[in-house]
Amino acid sequence: MLSQHLKAGTHGNSRPPALHMKALVLTEYNHFDLQDVPQPTIRPNEVLVRVQAVGICGSDVHGMDGSSGRRIPPIVMGHEASGIIAEVGSDVRGWTTGDRVTFDSTVYVLDDWYSRRGQYNLSDGREVVGVSTPDFKRQGAFAEFVAVPQHILYAIPDNVTFTQAALVEPVAVALHALSLTPIQVNDSAVVVGSGMIGLFVIQALKLAGCGTIIAIDLDDDRLALAQKLGATHTINARSGDVAKQVQELTHGRGADVSFEVVGAGPTVKTAIECVRKGATVTLVGNLAPTVEIPLQAVVTRQLRLQGSCAINGEYEAALALISSGRINVEAILSAEVPLDEGADWFKRLYAKEKGLIKVVLKP
Ligand SMILES: [Zn+2]
Repeated sequence: MLSQHLKAGTHGNSRPPALHMKALVLTEYNHFDLQDVPQPTIRPNEVLVRVQAVGICGSDVHGMDGSSGRRIPPIVMGHEASGIIAEVGSDVRGWTTGDRVTFDSTVYVLDDWYSRRGQYNLSDGREVVGVSTPDFKRQGAFAEFVAVPQHILYAIPDNVTFTQAALVEPVAVALHALSLTPIQVNDSAVVVGSGMIGLFVIQALKLAGCGTIIAIDLDDDRLALAQKLGATHTINARSGDVAKQVQELTHGRGADVSFEVVGAGPTVKTAIECVRKGATVTLVGNLAPTVEIPLQAVVTRQLRLQGSCAINGEYEAALALISSGRINVEAILSAEVPLDEGADWFKRLYAKEKGLIKVVLKP
């Protein structure tokens, strides 16, 4: 007995008892518990981040009820986060405790064929923080601490708050979509959907020098916000022939480029109908797995349909644009609340409460 006790005691001395933290756990579909759980332990290439702010993403809200199949419980969700490094692994270089950081929402493998080609967003086996599928589970940031590998970290500029930094991911998604779209100064652009990503696409198009930026949505409040953030024209999709209205604003030709940021059949069709011949239609939204497209219009008008997936290196630019005030992230911030109110806010977002765009939790 005694020797066993000593043995256990030796182990106990070499590794202190696990520290605990508060975490908002999706314990089953549509049900959260604020639990006391062990802090994540870090691998040699990882840092432990004390989370200061974390956004609730649309994909978290859709994932909550099981419909997306990408939040298999139990899981701590949350991939749009910022915080302070609390601990660094033995192989970590260039980062130290106390650093203010945000991180890529995806954990990609550095020696992947795509990563080596500079397309880490397409790399195989890429995992998303705070997501669980049949293939992987990675605990996220709706908690006091989260562990992430060093190669996905970004330093937060001094004048950018943790809340602003928690909103950098959707800005980067918008910048990535622009990077795949041929745009010249004074081009005309249509943005179908004025939700969060759409509003960042509009701001980025203004920075890229577009002369005419046409926002299309069903919600007049969102269209008003789109106008405030850089849209030169707004069209409520209920107001009749949208394509004709766009033509009237674009010399009768249609827009030079369009962006679809909803991901549904009717909006994809609108994005295709609103462009001129030879244009690029960049597809960002992907709610529906399958939509019908007007094939002949795409072929005979020689359109290019360009998919845009997540982010591929746009974090630094997004942080710089927030830092210099050229991208306004506060405009889409609806509420900043403590982590323990998270479950309630999930419910309100799930119920599509009017006027709610982005909610940020503060652990
Ligand atoms: Zn997200």
